[in-house]
Amino acid sequence: MKNIVPESITKVIQHLMSFPGYGEKASKRFTLNLLKMPKGEAVDFIKEVAQMIEKVVPCKECGLFTEEEICPICKDEGRDRKTICVVEESFDGFIIEQTGKFKGLYHVLGGRLSPLEGITPKDLNIDKLLKRVEELAVEEVLIATNPTVEGEATANYIQNLLKNKNVSITRLAYGLPFGAVLENADEFTLSKAIEFKIKI
Ligand SMILES: [Zn+2]
Repeated sequence: MKNIVPESITKVIQHLMSFPGYGEKASKRFTLNLLKMPKGEAVDFIKEVAQMIEKVVPCKECGLFTEEEICPICKDEGRDRKTICVVEESFDGFIIEQTGKFKGLYHVLGGRLSPLEGITPKDLNIDKLLKRVEELAVEEVLIATNPTVEGEATANYIQNLLKNKNVSITRLAYGLPFGAVLENADEFTLSKAIEFKIKI
């Protein structure tokens, strides 16, 4: 059988597939959408992507994506500088910020520990976290890694590093997502929800 897929298309699909979490199906769908867009629009889109890559850098302090050297959170004198929320990725910080419930600073790890993917502590922004905890005399570290096996392992690792320092360590509460149906909840989530029940 002859492969008649144009080389330029194959290249884009293969590139997309090299991203974590991007399967062949999603990569093909994205490429097809791009090809079906009016040419001008597609080129504008690619320019936007190029601009984003050009402009966005991790904040020098906390690692959140920003278009300046220091992000607006780290610059804001009104933030509680004694509390740091540790997140896996910038987008986790952005969503927590949207709740308006957290008034401290952030710290982006840039991933989570994953022996399977070969991601070890030295691949994460952990040394900088310890440095900030010391320099800012941080009083509380809120670990907001994902409630997954890797996220838990990462949280435990950080907790161990911080346990001899004079800092209180907290975790995001586990529970049922809003709108969830009990019967569909997994056992882990449900048992954590019972364990961390709240008085009403
Ligand atoms: Zn920052």
